[in-house]
Amino acid sequence: MKVYEGFSVSDGIAYGKAITLCYERKFVRDEISDDEKENEIARFESLLSSYLESERVKVVDKKLESLLNVHIELIDDPYLKNTIKSKILEENKSLEKAIEETFNQICFELNNLESDYMRDRIYDYISIQEEFIRTLTSAKDVEITENKFILFIENLSPKIIDKYKNRLLGIVSTNGGKTSHASLYAKNLQIPYMICDSLDLKELKDENFDCILDCDSEKIFLSPNEDTISCYKNLLKSSQKEFLDTNIVRTRNNRYIRVCSNISSFEEFEVSLKNGTDGCGLFRTEFLYMSDDSPTEEYQFEIFKKLAESTDKPIIIRTFDIGADKKSKFFRLDEEKNPFLGLRGFRIYKEFHKELRKHLRAILRASAFGNLKIMIPMITTLEEILWIKNEILKIKDELKEERVDFDEDIEFGIMIETPASVFLFDILVKEVDFVSIGTNDLVQYMLACDRENSKMQLLYDCYDPSVIRSIHRVVDIAHRNGKRVSMCGNFASELDAVELLILLGIDEFSVTNDVLQKIKKRIKLFDQNNYLDFFENINKFKTGRSVLYYFDNK
Ligand code: PEP
Ligand code: MG
Repeated sequence: MKVYEGFSVSDGIAYGKAITLCYERKFVRDEISDDEKENEIARFESLLSSYLESERVKVVDKKLESLLNVHIELIDDPYLKNTIKSKILEENKSLEKAIEETFNQICFELNNLESDYMRDRIYDYISIQEEFIRTLTSAKDVEITENKFILFIENLSPKIIDKYKNRLLGIVSTNGGKTSHASLYAKNLQIPYMICDSLDLKELKDENFDCILDCDSEKIFLSPNEDTISCYKNLLKSSQKEFLDTNIVRTRNNRYIRVCSNISSFEEFEVSLKNGTDGCGLFRTEFLYMSDDSPTEEYQFEIFKKLAESTDKPIIIRTFDIGADKKSKFFRLDEEKNPFLGLRGFRIYKEFHKELRKHLRAILRASAFGNLKIMIPMITTLEEILWIKNEILKIKDELKEERVDFDEDIEFGIMIETPASVFLFDILVKEVDFVSIGTNDLVQYMLACDRENSKMQLLYDCYDPSVIRSIHRVVDIAHRNGKRVSMCGNFASELDAVELLILLGIDEFSVTNDVLQKIKKRIKLFDQNNYLDFFENINKFKTGRSVLYYFDNK
């Protein structure tokens, strides 16, 4: 038995036959003559079209599908295509050499960037390059006869996962990054996946061996001995029997806490329902406005109705939140110097009044078919709330006159994402049925640091005492007024923040699909008695670190 350590991309344990895919790099010529250039360009064009044709990964979740197909966008980049062509035409490079040099240059530049996310794009480029070279050298796919197996490979690509997805017990790659698109795909399919750079695939290639992949303790056992196998068989049995919580869970002190989902398509909600969600805490409706045309009221109504009819659990529809990071093909907003401080969210509603009315009419009409709620993004002032409430009222009157059914008592909520809404909350709270804290924006506005700027990562801290005090203030005021507080920013999806957020009084977490069950599990383990001194400390935390330190030492 040999034991290796690596780092986990996707959780879980797997036991089974190992299959190693190891592609030999065939020798290719570096230089070509002038006469061969035309042929080389033709080979490139045909390579591109076959790649673009065959690489598209299709999954139910449309948002994930577009993420996974980022590979195709990387390839469709004119800079990349022109660089390869000019290496052939101007430097007499063979196609293989031109590809190698161009990709090496891109990876070199990415490697110099500070953001981990951008550095992980290197692995996307490497997997495309590998796929290109394999196609050019006509490398045949190895026939795998094993029905289910653990795949060992140097560079993982979404295409490889897609090809074997129903047969993969687990994956080990010797190269890769946590946020590459292949990693994202493996995570979404919940296939245990680890990266281990100390394995020598050439050595393993011809061997026939079993493997245990333990992504929870980040260990890989090659040809495990009997004791290890029996220990893991028990673990596997108990994890397979793991119970899917489909009801609202409660802490050990009997506090019920809802765990809902953040979604941006109906398909995503179907996955959430299978994952045991308690509802939808944030339906991002921006996708409706991604094409040139204005979506009709009828089209929107059908989507909201389908969603409403799919469950009796509550569904919060956030009205369109366009501007700043959320670009739209339809709403052509003027360039602004500070888009995050400009026209976004609620602030475009008066200008696009016709669109807003269609949108609200569609939501209200669909409310007759299920448990829908309306939520407004980027609220800063009381006037904004009064204005939008009046718009909703006018539409309700209209629908009554038209004798169209809708839920007269549809709940109305706002997102808390600006410091103004936190400090005015004692006034705003009177006008709403519920609120949802959008930490993604609240943190950026509270700490005056761009949520998308990798150089701001240290300052952008959800644990900062100013953020913790804001959440505490909002929950405290809401509860004193008998209103519920949800959190739909990414902070709610952070496993290590669960205890803090329960203590702060969050009633509903709205999270991404991959952590939904884990958060439910953590809520069930929570015992208030372990944190009796928390409220003595809440105004004493001086830094984000001191908040973390408090929880690390519990
Ligand atoms: C937020 O700001 O926390 C939020 C959930 O909204 P979005 O990320 O869509 O801006
Ligand atoms: Mg936001």
